[in-house]
Amino acid sequence: MSAYQVIDHTYDVVVVGAGGAGLRATLGMGAAGLKTACITKVFPTRSHTVAAQGGIGASLGNMAEDNWRWHMYDTVKGSDWLGDQDAIEYMCREAVPAVYELEHFGVPFSRTEDGRIYQRPFGGHMRNFGEAPVQRACAAADRTGHALLHTLYQQCLKHEATFFVEYFAIDLIMDADGSCRGVVALNLDDGTLHRFRAHQTVLATGGYGRAYFSCTSAHTCTGDGHGLVSRAGLPLQDMEFVQFHPTGIYGSGCLITEGARGEGGYLTNSAGERFMERYAPTAKDLASRDVVSRAMTIEIREGRGIGKGADHIHLHLEHLGAETLELRLPGISETAKIFAGVDVTREPIPVLPTVHYNMGGIPTNLHGEVLRPTGENPDAVCPGLMAIGEAACVSVHGANRLGTNSLLDIVVFGRAAALRAAEVLKPGTAHRPLPRDAGDLALSRLDRLRNAAGRLPTQSIRLSMQQTMQSDAAVFRTEASLAEGVRKIGEVYDQLSEIRISDRSLIWNSDLIEAFELENLLDCAKATIVSAEARQESRGAHAREDFPDRDDAGWMKHSLAWVDDKGKVTLGYRPVHTYTLTDEVEYIVPKARVY
Ligand SMILES: Cc1cc2nc3c(=O)[nH]c(=O)nc-3n(C[C@H](O)[C@H](O)[C@H](O)COP(=O)(O)OP(=O)(O)OC[C@H]3O[C@@H](n4cnc5c(N)ncnc54)[C@H](O)[C@@H]3O)c2cc1C
Repeated sequence: MSAYQVIDHTYDVVVVGAGGAGLRATLGMGAAGLKTACITKVFPTRSHTVAAQGGIGASLGNMAEDNWRWHMYDTVKGSDWLGDQDAIEYMCREAVPAVYELEHFGVPFSRTEDGRIYQRPFGGHMRNFGEAPVQRACAAADRTGHALLHTLYQQCLKHEATFFVEYFAIDLIMDADGSCRGVVALNLDDGTLHRFRAHQTVLATGGYGRAYFSCTSAHTCTGDGHGLVSRAGLPLQDMEFVQFHPTGIYGSGCLITEGARGEGGYLTNSAGERFMERYAPTAKDLASRDVVSRAMTIEIREGRGIGKGADHIHLHLEHLGAETLELRLPGISETAKIFAGVDVTREPIPVLPTVHYNMGGIPTNLHGEVLRPTGENPDAVCPGLMAIGEAACVSVHGANRLGTNSLLDIVVFGRAAALRAAEVLKPGTAHRPLPRDAGDLALSRLDRLRNAAGRLPTQSIRLSMQQTMQSDAAVFRTEASLAEGVRKIGEVYDQLSEIRISDRSLIWNSDLIEAFELENLLDCAKATIVSAEARQESRGAHAREDFPDRDDAGWMKHSLAWVDDKGKVTLGYRPVHTYTLTDEVEYIVPKARVY
């Protein structure tokens, strides 16, 4: 790595990402006495977790009777039976102590009259195995992620972890034996390169919402961890499952939390009809997100949309009263004012299904260990590499995530990864020498992009990608739209060879960093659309008009997508775990999914 100034670091563990997942892992690793570094491209409390609004799911039963087994049932059903039931059992059982741990860390939850954690209803969370909505989402007003992230960061500072803030991870360091040995990162402040050597590297880099034109995710959600593992020859899992949140603000895509419907908000079409009653007679506006997004899309398609273009839906909160809105939903009241010019105490908010969450990601087991599936062992592990949070696919969300289950996922599996690392690593264990070519992958990538003098600026390639994903990998999909999407994304991918970087300096060169991010996003986009074209059934968020039914015999399996350095995608499959972790619950047998 001679042409650049390279600084070497040695740690027991390196965590890439300082969102909720990365911080919970960092905190646990540090507490276990492991020498831990946390690398992040933005300041920790600017990670996308800060934007989470509605709540974190746990069956505390503070408002009415609840049970983690009901939570597990709802999560399996929400996942449309693609989730791994051992992992779901683990998450739903651990939810209760995880939330109390957050409370003790200092998360300022909203309170009930008698001082307990306030809980609100959320889509798909029901009592007694699907009977009626239950209040399970533990909330800090509508700023739960903000409260959680700031608290976790403060807790991290109590431990010995070292933060490398505004460092951009370029690529993993892989050894010839297939193990991961660390990561190479660029210091965005002074342009120095840093080689981090670690016994465990933990990817907590978040989702890839920015592969789409309209999404609720931050500009930082560019699937960097996904790109890192693809270039290391590892597969991505279940990438065709992209969640559209029913209520993004029309035009801007900003999120209005499902908690708004949890507090009693409802949707109407141009006839003023509360149409969700037709689609989901029991749960109505609190059906699962995929169900509500499809219903809205059908209403618009059939001419019952609102506005000049009949192209959106109304979300009503006026009837809740100014006091409740001020107490429970202050953040979205402000968002609606700024981004839609709407006073929620008087008028409805114009909304539209908007890309929100990636169920797919880097496949892991429930300890956060990354899988390198083989024919003989679909659960084989890649030594030295972990993934957690939205970047990972455990898989607890299967084909459709329930609201509040992601904040839960990030703290439960962030903690699980730390427990595992503490179990397998002895602090201060000596490192084997790095392979001679350690870091070359990152370096050649840096060289190639810095010197790219083609004819296409990064943003034009990115826009083509985003428009293609938006139109061809949408709420409803067909063979024709997906085939067209595969072809167009292929063309966009090929444009990478003609990219132009205008400023070659290494210091805070947003153009270069955006090109790195674009390459990562394109790996995600390719894996998504190719996996979607292959899956000939409808399950959760993947709705095929030409294959409207779920096909358990043919398709109850996880998709795997290997994206090579030419953008060629090779598909494979892994079985879904159809067993539970303990005998305290039984395997939940697939059945029709109605709300
Ligand atoms: C608007 C919004 C509202 C939401 N509301 C809820 C909710 O109420 N309840 C719920 O359960 N879920 C909610 N979600 C989902 C949930 O917030 C996210 O899935 C979750 O917070 C993701 O956490 P994370 O730690 O995996 O990633 P993030 O919080 O996205 O953090 C990623 C981290 O990785 C770092 N990083 C990325 N790439 C690199 C790189 N190349 N080099 C170095 N660092 C890198 C970033 O700096 C960042 O620190 C919401 C999501 C959105 C977008």
